[in-house]
Amino acid sequence: MRNTIATWPLDAPPPPDVPAEFRTPCTRVGRDLRHLPAGARLPDGACWELSEEPGSGFLLGLGSTRGLRYTLEVDPYLPPGPLTALVAEQVQDHVTGYEFLQWPTCPGHVHLLVPAADPDDAERARWHCRRSGHPLALIGDLSTGS
Ligand SMILES: [Zn+2]
Repeated sequence: MRNTIATWPLDAPPPPDVPAEFRTPCTRVGRDLRHLPAGARLPDGACWELSEEPGSGFLLGLGSTRGLRYTLEVDPYLPPGPLTALVAEQVQDHVTGYEFLQWPTCPGHVHLLVPAADPDDAERARWHCRRSGHPLALIGDLSTGS
């Protein structure tokens, strides 16, 4: 029996009942979702849903009025950096694959940015240019126009 812990808008900060491990990844990725391509917007009702399945762990769902998809069985013991990169990757797959939004795009290029944990800092994850491999921004700190 799945127990829903919280549901909240995709680009909003998590409510207080979301466990601490998920707050940083969801807050940072949600903040970057405010930087969609010009003219694009998140679908109606785009939301996170965090639930707990006894015996198996946490599930992070992504949904909209078109339905909820469970994309990630989350290991809450991952450090914040790798967990943020994982959540960013799943959200990117979701919005590009199901909502047909290109997010986030590389400044000056047409490709998507690639999320990856920072190898030197377990607290951080960054968006990288697919072509150069260079980090461009911390996940959560995309600037307008990126
Ligand atoms: Zn690039």
